[in-house]
Amino acid sequence: MEKSTKIKHKVGFLLSNDALSSQSTQTAVKSKKECSECNKIRKPSTENNQICYTCNKAKKRIISSGNKVIDDFIKYTNTNCPNKNGKMVFVPYEKFKNIEFIGEGGFSQIFKATWIDCQITDWGALDYTIKKYNRTVALKKLNNSKNITSKELNELKMYYHYSLNWKSSNNNCDIHNSYVNIYYGITQDPITQDLIFIMPYHNSDLAHYITKDFYNISWHDKISKLEDIIKGLSNIHDANIIHRDLHSGNILVDGQYSAKLCDLGTSKSATDNDDNNEIHGIIPFIAPEVLQGKKYTRASDIYSYGMIMWEIMVGRRPFWDRKHNTELIIDTCNGLRPPIVTNAPEGYIDLMKECWHDDPEKRPTANEILEKINRVYANECKNETKIIESSDIGPVIRNNSGKRKFEGIQFENNFINGESIKKIKLIEDKNDDYLTREIEFDFDINSKRVYENEYATREIDFDIGAL
Ligand SMILES: [Zn+2]
Repeated sequence: MEKSTKIKHKVGFLLSNDALSSQSTQTAVKSKKECSECNKIRKPSTENNQICYTCNKAKKRIISSGNKVIDDFIKYTNTNCPNKNGKMVFVPYEKFKNIEFIGEGGFSQIFKATWIDCQITDWGALDYTIKKYNRTVALKKLNNSKNITSKELNELKMYYHYSLNWKSSNNNCDIHNSYVNIYYGITQDPITQDLIFIMPYHNSDLAHYITKDFYNISWHDKISKLEDIIKGLSNIHDANIIHRDLHSGNILVDGQYSAKLCDLGTSKSATDNDDNNEIHGIIPFIAPEVLQGKKYTRASDIYSYGMIMWEIMVGRRPFWDRKHNTELIIDTCNGLRPPIVTNAPEGYIDLMKECWHDDPEKRPTANEILEKINRVYANECKNETKIIESSDIGPVIRNNSGKRKFEGIQFENNFINGESIKKIKLIEDKNDDYLTREIEFDFDINSKRVYENEYATREIDFDIGAL
């Protein structure tokens, strides 16, 4: 309960900051007055001079969901900064046909659907002037989300925050091409009342992309995907957002199109001083300092990027042959990284090692990585690196698809029984320095109820979904 209040407060803060900044830029022109809807000093509508032109226009266009939280949010995205990206719509559920289940995440289900009478441009902007047409989209349905609070909308709020703060370095470049997944808006399941986000449809995530046809994906294509990912990460970091849950299942890939970061649901503003630093994600992608209870930072996202580099190189998830358990956490904190089992273009392995450096301060920034990866790419274009087939690389064929699930449950038990952590500590270690670390994360993990209840479930689902 306390957590959701905090998030609510934080998002409110983000939004009110935006409102303040746009207010301060307004000049006191005589014809302008305070709008009774958005409270901004704006030109009043000719139809109703109590409200501004923007609010009046939004009023006519926005379809009410019947839920105040949703309606307020949609209205806000339409009236706050009307000239910016990020405006969203509420779409009645009956506007979606051919709904087909395609996958499951930790807290959600993903469907493919046809959106009837959509008015979204090719580059993803809401545009009421274009002719209505039918478009294939993805629907992300949040499990048990009928009691919608500000917290449930966090993913959209983060995206909206991003859309306001994203700075295009190229005027012709739209946010749709900013390597971050966009959102069109919200619909709601008419029976369960669950909240559903409307997004562009992509046919794969990076984890599936890399394993589906591993030996036929050239280094050229692999590096190109890594360039996209680091551009997306650089963009969100520049907008003061830390992803906090970056892994190959959170990167959308669609053939020759650019890769896009998604699932900003756990993201937070980088300037947020909230001490509630709960851990999200899949262990091999989580930076050691985070596993030890320190805050997520831009550098912890960079660590995850280093692991993605390894996965792209090898075609397997980092530590694919190990259980995701306490031992792996301890080993990671002691500096264990996945082995170098194959060749890679010049500079690639060094860069990957820089990204997963034990000391977050020594990891390169997203912009520095971009420069380096551009150089690796340029070299690759001149001098192609061969992929040498071996039993150490390529997708792992699993006989038992339930295996991961079993591992996940074991993992969960390890955490619920805090004593098992202490046992490992006593048996395996006699080094004082190590003990200190161990106590730190032992304390942190056991103080997080959410971690025990939700994290393990999420872990299981993501692993299955991605393999
Ligand atoms: Zn207004």
